Amino acid sequence: MKPINETRISFPARSANEGFARAAAAAFVSQLDPAVDELADLRTAVSEAVTNCIVHAYPNSIGTVTLSVKLFENGRVVVRIRDRGCGIPDIKKAMEPLFTTGGEERSGLGFSVMQSFTDKVRVTSHPGKGTTVTLEKYIRMRGEVHT
Ligand code: ATP
Ligand code: MG
Repeated sequence: MKPINETRISFPARSANEGFARAAAAAFVSQLDPAVDELADLRTAVSEAVTNCIVHAYPNSIGTVTLSVKLFENGRVVVRIRDRGCGIPDIKKAMEPLFTTGGEERSGLGFSVMQSFTDKVRVTSHPGKGTTVTLEKYIRMRGEVHT
């Protein structure tokens, strides 16, 4: 199905851009007139995915992160966060609660947060080539929306 509206932004994997990415995604989704809690959940999930690109994907450089947001009929929102970084060797393991390669600073809960704050999380990754996280969330439609 074709999206009714979409956007895409790219930015360097710097921590200063985490807030920008989260706010940009939320601003775009706002046209669906989401409830405050729905938007907050989406912001939190996007923030975890973008933070992972910043913290894990590019250990020795500042690579690029691409965020795309697609809006579909019936309030379906698909957010994709992509990096061209180191990749994840074992996705299933990486998504287990408390699994982290980030040492004591990290708690290993980012993927769990993404899963509990959205309706679906998909991860594809190739070591040395990068990672794509796709977050899907349904916004309750409360009337007509002009996009
Ligand atoms: P927290 O998110 O709680 O601070 P965390 O980032 O380690 O800790 P998750 O977000 O669940 O926890 O990620 C689990 C692990 O998956 C990470 O420790 C890292 O090894 C790997 N990972 C996640 N995203 C990426 C990515 N974009 N590129 C490379 N590795 C990643
Ligand atoms: Mg994380």
